[in-house]
Amino acid sequence: MRIGLDIGGTKIRGVVLDDDGSVRASVRHATGFGASAVIDTAFTVVQQLSERVGLDCSQFSSIGVGIPGTVDIHTGRVTHAVNLGIVDIELGEALSVRTGAPVRVENDVNAAAMGAYHLVGGSAESMVYLNLGTGLAAGIVLGGELWRGTRGAAGEIGHIPIDPRGVVCACGQRGCLETVASGSAVARLWPEGREPSIRALFDAADHGEPPALKARRVLVENVASALRIIVLTLDVELIVIGGGMSSLGEELLAAVCGVLKRWELESPFLAALDIPGRIRFASAGSDMAAVGAALVGRGGHTLPETLEAAR
Ligand SMILES: [Zn+2]
Repeated sequence: MRIGLDIGGTKIRGVVLDDDGSVRASVRHATGFGASAVIDTAFTVVQQLSERVGLDCSQFSSIGVGIPGTVDIHTGRVTHAVNLGIVDIELGEALSVRTGAPVRVENDVNAAAMGAYHLVGGSAESMVYLNLGTGLAAGIVLGGELWRGTRGAAGEIGHIPIDPRGVVCACGQRGCLETVASGSAVARLWPEGREPSIRALFDAADHGEPPALKARRVLVENVASALRIIVLTLDVELIVIGGGMSSLGEELLAAVCGVLKRWELESPFLAALDIPGRIRFASAGSDMAAVGAALVGRGGHTLPETLEAAR
């Protein structure tokens, strides 16, 4: 059995996955802030999962971790996980020493992509998981394996600049797609809003408030752009949409598909690609990302040297 941990800004979700890919136990815990709090909470979740299935922490085949920030998958080092208050930690090493099990750490979107692949039955030859959360990023699964690129930048479509007159992005470029197609874009596109949530924006637009209608149109068009970029660069069979914005489900899907259908009327080339037919939604609040983390742990890049040294 394997453990998967999805470490998010507010909570850590953990699952035990058996060899058949079934979830045997799951646990949620509020995430602490700062490096040592994150490690402590992650260890607590592992202990609770162990108790649930009657094993010792060290008896698991692997522990896979999905976490936001820059991740070195070979060493398990995590840097710049701003939402977690982490500047630089050797997360893989720390968890491996505490639990006695091999640990593999992966970027959260990539881990969720493996979970999405599992969710669609693991049969798609090519799939992209599009995370519409605070940011915008994609995880790519080709032939059942993650494709990270040579420097781990594959799928960073949120940082494709699309507007030379747009705002400066946190990455230093101007007019990135993420600045107009993500949860964090809502407050910028709709400063009149009572609260900067996608739900509030859609509700206000449904009530016909002109600023909200305009902001929703910009947001939805740019999410459609993100889907078009994915298909025109990778031409994958399936695109699974997840993340906070995906909680809108059918409403968001209808709006985005409306834009894509309009573009199809203008372009027989796009129409032939049938982008709407490739889209699926991941149900919000599921254990998908934690399951994906468990599958990432299966990948074999563990930390045996560290573990041996600790023993
Ligand atoms: Zn950017």
